[in-house]
Amino acid sequence: LVEVVGLAKAFGGVEVLRDVEFTVPTGSVTVLIGPSGSGKTTVLRCLNALETGDAGTVRIGDVSVDYAQHPGKRVLGRLRGQSAMVFQAHNLFPHLTVLRNVTEGPVVVQGKPREEAEAQARALLESVGLGGKADQHPYQLSGGQQQRVGIARALALQPELLLFDEPTSALDPELVGEVLAVMKDLAVQGRTMVVVTHEMRFAQSVSDQVLFMDGGVVVERGEPAAVLTDPREARTRTFLQRVL
Ligand code: ATP
Repeated sequence: LVEVVGLAKAFGGVEVLRDVEFTVPTGSVTVLIGPSGSGKTTVLRCLNALETGDAGTVRIGDVSVDYAQHPGKRVLGRLRGQSAMVFQAHNLFPHLTVLRNVTEGPVVVQGKPREEAEAQARALLESVGLGGKADQHPYQLSGGQQQRVGIARALALQPELLLFDEPTSALDPELVGEVLAVMKDLAVQGRTMVVVTHEMRFAQSVSDQVLFMDGGVVVERGEPAAVLTDPREARTRTFLQRVL
């Protein structure tokens, strides 16, 4: 279970998150939608302590952080360890092979024996359809393949929670489908995921819950069919009219 209560964050006196609250049941997918600047990325970053909130609690599995208590490095590190993020641009190490990109986190951060990490990485690459690419370098792959390596790399950390920050928005349109297909597989396997995306069809068909954010607050939440096709709030309707 993931639980966020009363999350608040300001940058230089400007409030970018206010009283953000939601839960993500284990094995479910939550999609965050909303206009640019509404705070979606900041929510993800506070979930995995890349950013510290000013107030509010974040609980992921058995790790809970109360940002109002100014948590120290150790507890923030434990929270960080509960999730893994897939970014908009894949951020792969260009000088390392695909295999090494996937094993680096488990070996360097988690201290896993290299052989074990490699066996796991090969299986993960197979599962995202890249079994034959282990020894290539990122530049030899398409954008969609690179992003799938990014997903395998996140999975290699064996996180409780997967975070996706607009994972397809930097891709050519014809490559979007293969990445969404991998994400759908993960959802079907019962991974717990929070996904920031503008892919409304993905939200509609894969998510269990949609949160619409605007101006740093969660304006509306609910099942995708309700929020996306029959929103209660005027702001949600206006946003959807623009993106659909
Ligand atoms: P987008 O879809 O464009 O990524 P978003 O909904 O993810 O937008 P955030 O990236 O979370 O929005 O940004 C929310 C607000 O916080 C924006 O006004 C942004 O300019 C501001 N912001 C984010 N990070 C910082 C930072 N490190 N310093 C100052 N302001 C920031």
